[in-house]
Amino acid sequence: MNKINHDQLLSLEHPFVKIPVEKLRSSLRTSQKHIEKEIANLTDKVSEISKKSVQGSMDSKQVEVALEAIVNRLSTLKRKLKDTRADEALYSQRTKVRLQHLQDFTTIATLDSDDFSRWSRVRLNRIVIDYMLRDGFKETASLLAKSEHIEDLVDIELFAQSAKVEQALTRQSCTECLQWCKDNNSSLKKIKSTLEFSLREQEFIELARERRSQEAIAYAKKYLTPWQETHIKEINHVMALLAFPPETKCHPYKRLYDKSRWNDLVAQFRSNNFALQFFTPEPLLNVTLQAGLSALKTPMCYQPDNRNFNCPVCDPETLGALAADLPLSHHFNSSIVCRISGQIMNEDNLPMALPNGYVYSYNALSEMASLHNGKITCPRTGEVFDSTQMKKVFIS
Ligand SMILES: [Zn+2]
Repeated sequence: MNKINHDQLLSLEHPFVKIPVEKLRSSLRTSQKHIEKEIANLTDKVSEISKKSVQGSMDSKQVEVALEAIVNRLSTLKRKLKDTRADEALYSQRTKVRLQHLQDFTTIATLDSDDFSRWSRVRLNRIVIDYMLRDGFKETASLLAKSEHIEDLVDIELFAQSAKVEQALTRQSCTECLQWCKDNNSSLKKIKSTLEFSLREQEFIELARERRSQEAIAYAKKYLTPWQETHIKEINHVMALLAFPPETKCHPYKRLYDKSRWNDLVAQFRSNNFALQFFTPEPLLNVTLQAGLSALKTPMCYQPDNRNFNCPVCDPETLGALAADLPLSHHFNSSIVCRISGQIMNEDNLPMALPNGYVYSYNALSEMASLHNGKITCPRTGEVFDSTQMKKVFIS
């Protein structure tokens, strides 16, 4: 019963290791590209200098200057590589620590061991930190990570970078996000992102809102026409804003002027950024809770009359809402649960029927009878019976 199913739990941990590994890989790729580009350039330069000096079209002074320029370029390359090395060291350290954390877990055999309590406390903390970071509580998240010594198990700075872009969008500035698109151009193409188009569209809308028509037309020519093959319908719509003022009631132009489009941009950026960084689209807390809730959800959970107060899914406000889209769990054996106590009814706690036909557990009814001089009140109908009137129910 208390044995741990390691594979099940580890199946949720894929992004945990994937995030630093991908960062490491992308950092190495960037260094590699820098080196290849610079070496190719320098090799050309050196052969040009040697050719020219042999021909005599460069004197020794000029050769010296040219060589000095090469040395300077090499120093710049060295500096850049030093910076990326720091990143590489960080992410390789993180990968190592995270793998060790998962390795530690595989050596724990039972759920009631102290080792598992310790391990799951760390897991809980990192899940809570992930939740806080997604909700913008960066400082609290950092403090928790620091006090629990789990900085290598969370991705605070990656969220901090994306928070800057989100804040800019909330201030209604596309500049930072467009720069982000430029920096991540090839990865965004791979996931077929249309974020850049949405940003360009928004900048056009803002020009139209201010009735700066000439500038808007020039902007559209430069930044919207490259998208005409795939987004001609959207471009036609947005261009028509030049004929409709911001206070228009006409659909769909009224919607295009709507300021809530900025929130949509934040959401679009978030989902693209999460995809690129290998973060789960939903907070880890939701994912983990849903994994557990899916094992508990039954058709009875969403029937207000049959709520079991011991079942988290039966609470429609909190965990029930989180479980709404989950499939029902597959139960090999059904169990009957007492509506009063939430306890399972079985041979040790028999189901007892009242004269009105409603069934409750023996333990709950006897406790009620002992507190009320042998009287039992049916919680559903309010009818009062004598405890001697309850009858055993046999389920076949
Ligand atoms: Zn339930």
